[in-house]
Amino acid sequence: MGLNLEMIRGFAVKYAVFNAFQYDGKANPGSVMGRIFAEYPEAKVNAKDVQRLVMEVVADVNSWPIDKIRETVKQWPELFEAKKVEAKKILPPLRNLEKWPMVKVRFAPNPDGPLHLGSAESIIFSDEYAKMYQGHFILRFEDTSADVKPPILQMYDWIQEDLAWLGVKVDEMYIQSERLAIYYTYAEKLLRMGAGYICTCDSDEYKKLYMAKQPCTCRALPPEEHLRRWGMMLDGSYKRGDAVVRVKTDITHPNPAIRDWPALRISTRTHPLQKRRHRVWPLYNFSCAVDDHLMGISHVIRGKEHEVNSTRQKYLYDHFGWQFPDVINVGRLGLEAGILSKSKIREGVDSGVYSGWDDPRLGTLRALKRRGLQPETIRDIMIQVGPKPINLTITWGNIAAVNKKLIDPDANRYFFVADPIELKVKGLKGPLQARLPLHPDYPEKGYREYTIEPEDGECVFLVQSKDLADVKERLIRFMGLVNIKVKKTGKTTEGEFDSMEHQVAREKGAAFIHWLIEGNSVDAEVVMPNASVTKGKAEKLVTKLKVDDMLQFERFGFVRVDSLNPLRFYYAHD
Ligand code: GLU
Repeated sequence: MGLNLEMIRGFAVKYAVFNAFQYDGKANPGSVMGRIFAEYPEAKVNAKDVQRLVMEVVADVNSWPIDKIRETVKQWPELFEAKKVEAKKILPPLRNLEKWPMVKVRFAPNPDGPLHLGSAESIIFSDEYAKMYQGHFILRFEDTSADVKPPILQMYDWIQEDLAWLGVKVDEMYIQSERLAIYYTYAEKLLRMGAGYICTCDSDEYKKLYMAKQPCTCRALPPEEHLRRWGMMLDGSYKRGDAVVRVKTDITHPNPAIRDWPALRISTRTHPLQKRRHRVWPLYNFSCAVDDHLMGISHVIRGKEHEVNSTRQKYLYDHFGWQFPDVINVGRLGLEAGILSKSKIREGVDSGVYSGWDDPRLGTLRALKRRGLQPETIRDIMIQVGPKPINLTITWGNIAAVNKKLIDPDANRYFFVADPIELKVKGLKGPLQARLPLHPDYPEKGYREYTIEPEDGECVFLVQSKDLADVKERLIRFMGLVNIKVKKTGKTTEGEFDSMEHQVAREKGAAFIHWLIEGNSVDAEVVMPNASVTKGKAEKLVTKLKVDDMLQFERFGFVRVDSLNPLRFYYAHD
């Protein structure tokens, strides 16, 4: 049965108009063909006819005034419906919305390193929910623990850049080290209420007591005494380690970590922003809980390892009579390849084991970006995983599959000959024409065209040594050009003209390999995922690309343009 071309034309018009409507009046024939094949797979048998028809229809539609496109597209409302349905099934709805005036979520990093894939989970979920409910996304730097996690000045900017790259909209931003006066107020209130106390016991002594579920003598002292001690903490009468503010919880709680947890202490370490301006600093649980309340956080999306912190923080909320946010615990996300531990990364960067925070071996967002991972890929993967309290390891294969789908339509094809060797070919006749598609799925993108002019029937090609490993006396095909019989390999490598046709190469089972000549190539290098560098020659045309462009080196893999001078790429995936 023949193809119903009239029906196909109908599809072509519909999808061309819709595509033109979406993209400023310019439909893309490749996308239109894709939609037709999806709807009518039999059409693939006559792909050539379909392509001709689509090209014709697209040319026509693209010549229409935009008003006509907008008017025409209205007759297919289902095209818009499909999009809406897709957009809706993002994340499961939030609970307890009625308890809060608006949805407010926060991401609260310690600025002691850039963001990595592990942090992306709570970021993406928070951002998605903020957008879904027209809420606010708050970025809060939790930088008050300089003793244990010294902040790095540069990271305040880098984290904002990383978030912007991920496509996150930050509605409010706070830096905790600038808010000490607020924490002091609440510390004082707590002491005055008798809900907290200042402990001056020797720390070993205190530990013994609390492990035995026994209160220390400070706990029962009246608020006046604690307020006096508070003054001594602030004015410098107490030295580092002499006194700590504790929140009263349940001293017999089965989990010792919950028992009267420490809230503020004396620290004399120079802070990168505050220098030596303050000596009393809140600990994470105290400043986090106070801020979540003051900032009106309705939903906290945090790593499951923070469960015990949620329990601690609830005591403070109960003392003050505040409403505790809804907590959504998410599992830890591991990356099969790519180091995620902040302390390990920092160590390696400091010691020079890694070339920087974006070394390709790392799981930082900067490293992934440099390798050509798209922010949409990260978002898609997180949404697929969903906000669940399950630990998961993502393989690089999972990531690559999503990324490839995203970048492939825009990634043009070029040749890169790694570790090139020369192959002298004899017996060539006349000028040879190479015509290689920029993208095999989108012929309309055009071709890379080269004319090879042999001298006395001879021409020297650059090929990958590994491609010639065991092809002696065998036929190879130089993609898009000519079939060669390899005569000699090793120190000098020679071949002889065999035939021209692609079909012959197919029938004889030739190895299809890519090639370059000195005249159409330039020196280039590719930084590989293990940080090694593969040197070789790339097609000169790549010098026309821009930094960050993604492309595919045929038979090698997808790469990102990292620098044009020197010409350097980063390997993404195959
Ligand atoms: N600053 C904390 C962290 O480093 C925030 C944890 C939370 O409360 O969500 O993970």
